[in-house]
Amino acid sequence: MSTRAFAAHSATTPLAPFSFARREPLATDVQIEILYCGVCHSDLHQARNEWSEFAGTVYPCVPGHEIVGRVTKVGKDVKKFKAGDFAAVGCMVDSCRTCPSCSRGLEQYCNHFPTLTYNGQDKRSGGVTYGGYSESIVVDEAFTLKVSDKANLAAVAPLLCAGITTYSPLRHWGAGPGKKVGIVGLGGLGHMGVKFARAFGAHVVLFTTSPNKIEDGKRLGAHEVVVSKNAADMAKHASSFDFVLDAVSAEHDINAYLSLLKLDGTLCLVGAPEKPLPVAAFNLLMPRRQFAGSAIGGIAETQEMLDFCAERGITSDVELIPIQKINEAYDRLLKGDVKYRFVIDMASLKQAA
Ligand code: NAP
Ligand code: ZN
Ligand code: ZN
Repeated sequence: MSTRAFAAHSATTPLAPFSFARREPLATDVQIEILYCGVCHSDLHQARNEWSEFAGTVYPCVPGHEIVGRVTKVGKDVKKFKAGDFAAVGCMVDSCRTCPSCSRGLEQYCNHFPTLTYNGQDKRSGGVTYGGYSESIVVDEAFTLKVSDKANLAAVAPLLCAGITTYSPLRHWGAGPGKKVGIVGLGGLGHMGVKFARAFGAHVVLFTTSPNKIEDGKRLGAHEVVVSKNAADMAKHASSFDFVLDAVSAEHDINAYLSLLKLDGTLCLVGAPEKPLPVAAFNLLMPRRQFAGSAIGGIAETQEMLDFCAERGITSDVELIPIQKINEAYDRLLKGDVKYRFVIDMASLKQAA
């Protein structure tokens, strides 16, 4: 099935119209007309091949892994979905399903590496997977999520990556009542981190480099907002946090955030900057601090997060854009100028060809 999309054709050229063939749905596949797709900073890293050592980009690359749409067709053995249902797809479309990680519902840590929604090795159709900056997608129902038909679907889309990537570590490290939790960087991930940490009952402190985000930080749920460039304000919080979630997309001084942890506190990186972040040894040794990382979340936990959000009325704060503005959106992401997630209205693709 011929599918219109936008793709990066090289690391240095703007995204441009592209078309390719999606497979016809197999027995357990769901075919989805994409209504909205969020714009993750990972899309930008990948389109520009900034992770070349870990996951070199295969061009043309169709990014997009915050996908919400309407089911148009299902394979004969599909049980959870029927045509007309709303459905969502996140960062993975398959995994081995049998290794110890997959057996625990941690498909994102599949020992054989999950099939990512884009720039992944497509086990069904061969070649590379193409993501959500496109008019439709075909995904096995095991990797397709249910979404509430009551929510604003454009504002639900970012939950599929920004949502689960912050929900999962906050749950894993027990952010909740009695815990002091820091969120670093108020972008797509960070603003969901603030909302979740607050919803889980923690004392939430936002660290931002942008003084103009102080009010928003509080509105989104932070009890306190610290402008991280202000050393005296940072020092007031030294050695006092149980958990800090770092969602920064670029090079920054990680030691400033390790210093915030109390004994046995954990700093978890979810941001994935291009270059390594040097750690000063004594910032870890004293007092027995932990430096960790976390990647998205498993399928069951993603559904749990979507259900939690539907129940609690939690969505993302979004700015809707036509796909023709995607290159401008990338430029604005690099300036930290997004409040707080760009979401592509896929209806615009019809005007793009
Ligand atoms: P984003 O919307 O662009 O937000 C990043 C935020 O980081 C900015 O808004 C800014 O917040 C802060 N920041 C940017 N440059 C900075 C700098 N030089 N120094 C200090 N702070 C800076 O990005 P996102 O979509 O949330 O993604 C954030 C990172 O997470 C990306 O690297 C992305 O690839 C990664 N990611 C990882 C996973 C995972 O599974 N672990 C999943 C999705 C995304 P302030 O203005 O508040 O300072
Ligand atoms: Zn993402
Ligand atoms: Zn596996």
